[in-house]
This record gives sequence, structure tokens and C-alpha cells, in this order.
Amino acid sequence: INISFTCYSSNIIRSRFPDIVIPDVTLPEYIFSNFNKFPNKIAVECAETGRKYTFEELRRKSINLNKALRKVLKLKHDDIIAVILPNVPEYPICILGSLLANLKVTTVNPAGTVDEIKRQMIDTDTKAIFTVCSLENHIRQVIRTLPAPVPIITIKTKTTDTTPEGFINFSELLDVSFAIDDKYLAKTNDIAIIPYSSGTTGLQKGVLHSHSSLVSLICQLRSPYVVFTKPTTENFQETLPVVLPFFHIYGFTSLLITQLSIMSKIVTLSKFTPEIFVNVLEKHKPRLLCVVPPLFLFLTNSPLVTQKHLKSVEYVFSGAAPLGPKDEERLVIKSEEKLQVVQGYGLTEAPVVTVNSNNDHYTAGTVGKPLQNTEIKVVSVENALAEPLAKNEEGEIFVRGPQVMCGYYNNPKETESTFVNGWLRTGDLGYYDEYNNVYIKDRLKELIKVKGYQVAPAELEDLIRSYPNVTDAVVIGIPHEKYGEVPRAYITLKPKTNINLKSLEEFVSSNVSTYKQIQGGFSIVDSIPKTASGKYLRKDLKVQYLKNNM
Ligand code: AMP
Repeated sequence: INISFTCYSSNIIRSRFPDIVIPDVTLPEYIFSNFNKFPNKIAVECAETGRKYTFEELRRKSINLNKALRKVLKLKHDDIIAVILPNVPEYPICILGSLLANLKVTTVNPAGTVDEIKRQMIDTDTKAIFTVCSLENHIRQVIRTLPAPVPIITIKTKTTDTTPEGFINFSELLDVSFAIDDKYLAKTNDIAIIPYSSGTTGLQKGVLHSHSSLVSLICQLRSPYVVFTKPTTENFQETLPVVLPFFHIYGFTSLLITQLSIMSKIVTLSKFTPEIFVNVLEKHKPRLLCVVPPLFLFLTNSPLVTQKHLKSVEYVFSGAAPLGPKDEERLVIKSEEKLQVVQGYGLTEAPVVTVNSNNDHYTAGTVGKPLQNTEIKVVSVENALAEPLAKNEEGEIFVRGPQVMCGYYNNPKETESTFVNGWLRTGDLGYYDEYNNVYIKDRLKELIKVKGYQVAPAELEDLIRSYPNVTDAVVIGIPHEKYGEVPRAYITLKPKTNINLKSLEEFVSSNVSTYKQIQGGFSIVDSIPKTASGKYLRKDLKVQYLKNNM
């Protein structure tokens, strides 16, 4: 598909490089089309156990999984399958095998609570689950609450693991040797993955990405103009340690599928510990590191990371949350000016929008320039339909491009309000300069980002409101030195009642994932500021908090 936009305006910015022709193929077809160049190179390796697969093994196992899902588990075209996995080397097999079978995949945070996972399972009407043996108890609790039983395919990550009673062994399932027709083969516009995001408002919802939007994104990222991507050759193969979770759009797109397509070697880390991460740096001597700001700060501040560990590193790419120019500078200095910091900006709904696409006029603190085939405009916060603003004028960032999502799953209302005349509204406040460098200044949307993870205030507010004597609750994000932001709650109580805040805190903690906990504290207030239409004035609370505490 040759994507070219006909609408040009002086206040719409694009890459200065030409549009890319996006091939009309599905995601597995696109990824596998490269694999025969170096079939025996290692594609994925587990940092903890050394378990590894070559590109050819990945391809063969994905094809077998495709057959088994259809023939053994009788899953049908369009069924949704949930991948509830930490970063393990089998992750891409689960994704590519399911997509070959023309299933849709919803990627789930394996560290989510039973309630969080259950909500996503019910919302997507999941027909099967991939998980690891160590999550058995958690997954049993989830499936007990589902309306109908679903098959659970488990991966053994340790030699001592045994497949839990009633669950399916992943390796045995793949051990198939029957022929099968290809009548379920996906089309490029079919939905491929459904990660979850709260978007600009409300609860988490399924973000629909088609094969085509994902293939487009890979093409945009592996463009020779993107400064840090380096495809495999006879004499070079990138080794990329990946601790950022594959279930999140950043890990899934920039790290998993793009790096597979250029045949990098992905070293999976199922969790972050300083020791394991530093060991990986020592062992693999990576040229490129892809991080989120807390990991970036770890590289800068931890005495465990020394110049020796940064010697091989040419680029550190940071995304998913803000990173300041001073932060960038400190790491460059620590590396003795050897490495270059590159930021990227994106959202689950448009996984990557800007990166540093060449070394031209890069300024510290910018999130880079628009990718090819991508248009950006900045629009007045008061009037989304007005003419776009000029350079250096701050407003809401709007995006258009082939990598943008198709909409939200089963949610036409949210889909409609997120697109304005075909443009995706990002809910981010920013501007661009005379070189088309984009800067993100703030977030208009409710979303809070803790360690790069999404926290939807609406979810926490709903939970807090269910606590005895609480009449109303609003949650905002406040700055945090290590995590970027943490949630802080303001609550009102029934007249003449009181509450034990410690118990409320424990109640919240026991119901949500660790990163969603109210680490910014609770405050009991007489009333919560709202607009005439009843919308919380979160900004007012934030301004007031910053005035009193910073
Ligand atoms: P998610 O959907 O979890 O990827 O979150 C997307 C949001 O993260 C964006 O809308 C921004 O608010 C924020 N974000 C992503 N990348 C950056 C960046 N490089 N700088 C500042 N904020 C960012």
C-alpha cells in the first residue's frame, strides 16, 4: 500500500524523508520473510536460564502452534487468545503462532491482580490462555471467575517445573506433525493484537491494532533514517537485552516485532534486578539499550553500572514517559561522551510517532521528529477543530499515520471521541520547533505514568469509592524522583464519619498491582473541585499540590 497524504498545511509536520511503501502482508508473513537469510542465528535467548531458539526454530514452532491451536484446541478464526507471560523466549512463538491461526491476541500484564486480569479476560471473551507454570495459582483464581472454562497452555521456564493438573503443556502441544489447510489465513486489515490502555479518559480498554498497522510501524522503525536501528548482516547482529515488558506496546513493537524483523538477538529478562541487568551488560556488551526513564536513571545513578558497562553502548533509546535534558546529559557524561541518548514518543494507540530520525538538529529533551508516513499537528486545547497552531506554540498533539490503531474494542463511543476528522488526539500537550523536533510538555489526559506503566485514575477512584464511608474520590499523579509519577488520592467522607487511612491504603494495595498503589498518600478534603458538568478538576488539585510541596 503506498500511503501518501494529500492534505498538506504549513502547520502539519512530516518527516523530511520520503514516504515508505508498506507491503501488503500480514505480520507473521512480514517477519518470517526475513528469516531465511540467517536461519541458524539465535533469535531469542533467556538471560536467566540460557534457553534459546534460532530463527528457523521460531518459525517452525510458530507454524506448529498454529496447527495445534486450530486442530487440537479447535480455536476459530477471530477468537481472542490471552498471552499472560513475563518476557520469555517463547513469547514470540505464542504471538506468531496465534496470528498464523488468524486468532487475535490480547497481551496481559502477568503481574496484574486476579481482578485486573479477569476484567481483561471477560472484556475480550478470551478463548484460551498462554502462561507460565509459576503463575498457576494466580491463573486458577482468574479462570474460576470466568463464565466458561478455557484451555490454559503453560510454558515450563525451569527444569523443575511440572505442568499443572488440567493445564496443557506448551512443548507437547507443539509436537504435531499433521497437515492442515490455510483457509484461516489472516488478511492485512484483520485485527492482530489488543493491548489495553485507558486512552484519554476512563477505564482501560482494548486497543485494536491490525496486521497492517503493525507491519507499517516495523517498516517505519527499520527505515535507514532511524538512527539507532541496525539490521543483521553476515558480520553483525544486534544483541538487545529486553526487560521492558512485551505486553506493553513499547516492548511489543519497538523491541519484539521490529527487532525480530531485522533479525537482532533478543535477550529476555523476565524481571528487573540490578544484578541480573548488570550481568547481562557484562556478558552481551550491547550496542543499543532501550529503556524507560526509571531504568535510564538506574544506568546513570547506580554504582553497579560503571563506564566499563557503557563502553559498548552507542545508543540509549528512552520512551514511554518524560526524560529531561539534564537526565540525558548526566548519562552522556558518565559514559565519557561516548553514547548518544535518543528519545521516542508514542502511545498504545500509535505505538511510535516520533524518534530521532537522523542526527540533524537534535536538541536534548526533544522526543524526536515524526516517523516517515506520519503527520503531526498541534491543536488549540480549547478548540480541536480550529486551524493547527504554528511552530513553538503549545497545544494538544494530534497524529495521523498508518501505525495508528483502528479503534477501541467494542467501544464505538470512545473510538469516536478519540478521532477528530481522522486524526488521533493524543491527550498530550506539546509543540514542535523550526527543525520539526517535537517536545512533550504535559499530559491533558487523566493517565498517570508510574515507571512507564499506565495507571488509570478512574480505576483507583472506583475502588476507593467502594470503601465504607467514602463518598467521593479523585486520583492525580504527582512527581516522583525515581518512578516519574505516583498516584495521590483526595477523598470526601459521609458527614460525621471518620476513616482509618492506613486500612484504606491496605485495602487499595491488596486490590491492585504494586505500581498502582497510592504511594503519593491520601488526603481527606471537604469537597473535590469539579466543573459545572461534574468533571473533576484534576489540574487544580495538581497545581495546588505542587504549590504546597515543591
Ligand atoms: P502508553 O499508552 O502506556 O504508551 O502511554 C502513552 C503516554 O505516555 C503518552 O501519551 C505520553 O503521555 C507518555 N509518553 C510516551 N512517551 C513519552 C516521551 N518520550 N516523553 C514524554 N511522555 C511520553
